[in-house]
Amino acid sequence: MAPPMLDFYQIDELLNEEQRLTRKTVRAFVDESIMPIISEAFETGTFPKEIIPQLGKLGLLGASLKGYGCAGVDSITYGLIMQELERADSGIRSFASVQGALVMYPIYAYGSESQKENWLPRMAKGEAIGCFGLTEPEHGSDPGGMKTKAVKDGNEWVLNGSKTWITNGTIADVAVVWAKTEDGIRGFLVEKDTPGFSSAKIDHKASMRASDTAELGFDNCRIPLENLLPESNGLKSPLGCLTQARTGIAWGVLGAAMACLEEAVTYSQNRIQFDKPIASFQLVQAKLAHMSTEITKAQLLCLRLAQLKDSGKMHPAQVSMAKRNNVAIALECARLTRDILGANGITYDYQAIRHMLNLETVYTYEGTNDIHSLILGQALTGIAAFA
Ligand SMILES: Cc1cc2nc3c(=O)[nH]c(=O)nc-3n(C[C@H](O)[C@H](O)[C@H](O)COP(=O)(O)OP(=O)(O)OC[C@H]3O[C@@H](n4cnc5c(N)ncnc54)[C@H](O)[C@@H]3O)c2cc1C
Repeated sequence: MAPPMLDFYQIDELLNEEQRLTRKTVRAFVDESIMPIISEAFETGTFPKEIIPQLGKLGLLGASLKGYGCAGVDSITYGLIMQELERADSGIRSFASVQGALVMYPIYAYGSESQKENWLPRMAKGEAIGCFGLTEPEHGSDPGGMKTKAVKDGNEWVLNGSKTWITNGTIADVAVVWAKTEDGIRGFLVEKDTPGFSSAKIDHKASMRASDTAELGFDNCRIPLENLLPESNGLKSPLGCLTQARTGIAWGVLGAAMACLEEAVTYSQNRIQFDKPIASFQLVQAKLAHMSTEITKAQLLCLRLAQLKDSGKMHPAQVSMAKRNNVAIALECARLTRDILGANGITYDYQAIRHMLNLETVYTYEGTNDIHSLILGQALTGIAAFA
């Protein structure tokens, strides 16, 4: 018997009982609660907020953190959660990635004890939502050039500036905002009702339509001193969050790629042209073979990355390799599936084009494909070629 389509190298055998069980639970939740609504959510450009309490109940928010009501799972389990969420849609995985890796993680790693106690248990349950503001209109790949500033004034910080392309921006109760101070870049917790804080939804997106994306504005926002993340220290702090999130992305996009492969195989077995299923044509089989091989290679990268992470040996350049490779192959799988589906592939009746459009964002955010090439180039040569 041939190996299973979505587990060609029988990686399942390397997973433990808890990892398999978590994947099964998340898979069932996604099938029951997300798949039936995702196509419409994408088409209407809305994030399906109604799933948030269930994500919390299942322990999927900030799942890798320990204590404070978080599940404390290992990195393989965390990766499998991201994979199953993105099998539905990159926008759903983005919600969970931002909440866990970009908001809960910096509070956990750089926050005070009272900040952790105040936010983490509520965020794990999905009762409070967060967003992460690093990108600015004029500073995307070079966040170190940010213009947002925080100046100390008595017992408050005064924040001025703007952020853009912020996931969860209009639904967030708290924004982790990175700003320049006289001591360098620091992180601040900006609560949604702070006077001078505004958020506006970004419309007309052709990608990540089932995700909330916003611009944030800070006009003389006065933030209590205790809302500074005390252990945040320079650009390496937000970059540390991105390293966490990128491991989840490397796993997550596999979910989208696997959904596409499954759709491509099923469709090609059923679509008849020239009196034969198109699956019987060598050119179609070559495309399927390529997708399956790339997915398998990407699964192995993820597995080893998670092992390195849990043993404390993971290097950010290894994360860059996995993010860069896996997003690129997932996007290629989505495009090939769209191709195999012919004209039907351009409709939302199938998943391929939705994944394809979403993955264009994933190719760009959390370090563009090119930026990760430069990180790898620096790791290999010792020479930074960013500027
Ligand atoms: C839907 C969506 C959600 C997002 N969510 C968030 C979020 O929650 N929080 C947040 O802070 N940000 C978020 N982002 C922003 C994202 O991280 C940025 O878009 C990304 O960092 C790239 O920045 P940019 O779009 O300004 O592109 P630019 O930096 O302007 O890059 C444009 C092009 O130039 C290339 N380039 C840039 N510099 C170099 C160089 N040195 N050498 C070679 N090529 C180079 C890039 O690779 C790219 O091809 C999101 C973006 C999207 C689309």
